[in-house]
Parts: sequence; structure tokens; C-alpha cells
Amino acid sequence: MRKIIIIFIVGIVLMAIVGGSTFSQTQQQPVDVGAEKTSEKLQAEIKENKDKTENIQDTEKAKKDLREEKEIDSSKEETLKEDEVEKKDLEVNSDAKKKDNHKSKKIFLTFDDGPTTLTPQILDVLKEHDVNATFFAIGRLAEKHPDQIKRIYNEGNMVLPHSYTHDYSIYSTIDGFYEDFFRAEETVSSILDIQLPPIFRFPGGSSNHSSFNYGGKQFMPKLTEDVKEKGYYYIDWNVSSGDAGPDYNNKEKMIENVLNGAKGQDFIVVLFHDVPRNTSMKKILPEVITVFKDRGYTFRTFRDITEEELNTMVQLKLANKPIIR
Ligand SMILES: [Zn+2]
Repeated sequence: MRKIIIIFIVGIVLMAIVGGSTFSQTQQQPVDVGAEKTSEKLQAEIKENKDKTENIQDTEKAKKDLREEKEIDSSKEETLKEDEVEKKDLEVNSDAKKKDNHKSKKIFLTFDDGPTTLTPQILDVLKEHDVNATFFAIGRLAEKHPDQIKRIYNEGNMVLPHSYTHDYSIYSTIDGFYEDFFRAEETVSSILDIQLPPIFRFPGGSSNHSSFNYGGKQFMPKLTEDVKEKGYYYIDWNVSSGDAGPDYNNKEKMIENVLNGAKGQDFIVVLFHDVPRNTSMKKILPEVITVFKDRGYTFRTFRDITEEELNTMVQLKLANKPIIR
């Protein structure tokens, strides 16, 4: 019985050993295979994932790069757009400038009541600054200084009639006015040996009050209509230096008057006087010329005035201003 029990136990032990090893083998293998498979799979998966990750990373990088590119591009675009805008602005500006220049920004310097001893000084300044002006001359003085009239004209400026006597009694009668006026016109015309354009300036301007004492309040309305019917243009001004007034030798005041008068105006006719007492003219004039040159104005004269410019003058009431009283 003991033997049987021992054999049984040994048998069981043996069976256990053999079976155990078999079990463990059979059990291990699939685990190993599985592990290998899993590892391969994992590795593959890892690789795949890695690839994917790399792909993703690549894609991300690519996207990032693209974004960056886009950003660069868009910043480029923005820069380009900005450039374009700037360019457009510049174009608009230059167009505006062109238009402006084409349209106007014109200045007509005019000097009344010469020629006098001041005339050569005015001419020197004009010459030095390479600009021209218009002189509305007094016939009586032109007869005395024909050389000055010639010099004015020969240096590219214009001389037109103002009056022969510059005595306000010319405003007593229509005939009396024309007698004086035609004499002035004829004097200048014969000195220069040219036919003058039908352009002049009334003594005191078209809206003068001096005529009230002679032909009365309704004299200028009547005279101006008659002058227009004869085909003449009478020229006034929209900027006065004030040099016929008490501050005529105050350089700063004269310049200030001109600059204030010119504010916001692109088409300017400035009134100066060619009279001996205006000794500050040689200091005032260079500054006035420089300012308007810097502001882009073209210096024009009535010598080569265009029909368009004359029409502009009529519109601005610088020429043939209706006098209604
Ligand atoms: Zn005058």
C-alpha cells in the first residue's frame, strides 16, 4: 500500500513535471510568438505612427511653412498693397499736381502808374528771379521815359495802358474818358511799335469811388458796359499789396498783405505800384516772388495771356467785373 502511494505520488510528480514543461512550452510559445508579433506589429505600428507622426509633423511643418509663407506672402501682399496704395497716392498726388499745374496756380504781378525811377529796380528784380510782370503805364510818363517802356517789353514783360493823365476828372464824361484812354493806348503802342491787345486797367480800378465826384455813382456802371461793348477787357486785382496806402514802405506789412490776400487762391492778380516812393520794392518783391515760386505758381503776364485765362479772369471777376450800383 505504501509502495502504491509512493508510486502514485512519484507518478503525479513526474506527470506534473512533464506536463508542466509541456504546458509551459505550449503556453510560452504563443506568448512569445504573440509577443514577437505584437512587437513587430508594435514596431510596425510605431514606425507607422512614427511615419504618421513624421508625416503629421511634416504636414504640420509644411502647413506651418505654408502659413509662414502665406504670412510672408500676405505681409508681402500687404507691403505690395501698401506700396500700391502709396503708388496710387503718389499717382493721385502727381495727377492732382498735374491738374493743379494745368488748371492754374497762376500769379500775375502788375505794376501801375509807371514808368518812374523805380521801374529799373523792379525790372532788375524780375530779371534776377527770371519772372515777368505787366505794367499798366501812365501815357504821360511813358512819353517822358520811352526807354523804360522799351526795356520793360524787351525783357519779356508787358506794357498796357492805364490812363494818359491819371487825373480822376477822366471820369466826368464818357467821351472825356476815351480821349484820355486812347491817347495812353496810342502812346504805348507807338513806343513799342506794336498793336496792343484790348486790355487795360482803370485808374482806381473798375469799382473806384473817385468817379462819384465827377460823373456820379452811375458813371462806372455805364462806362464799364460801354468799354465791354467795344471789346475791351478791364483788369482789376484780387490781391493788393497796399503799397498805395500809408504802410507803403513797411516791408513786412506789404508781404503780409500779399500773403493774406493770396490765401486759398490759385489764380492771383497782385496789385503793386511803380512809384518812386516805394523804395522798399526791391526788398519786398524778391520775397514775394520766392514764396509763390515755392508754392508752385506760374508767373504769367498779359503779353501772352490765353483766351482760357481771360475767361477765368472774367469768371473770377478779375476782368470785366460787372459794376452794379
Ligand atoms: Zn493808377
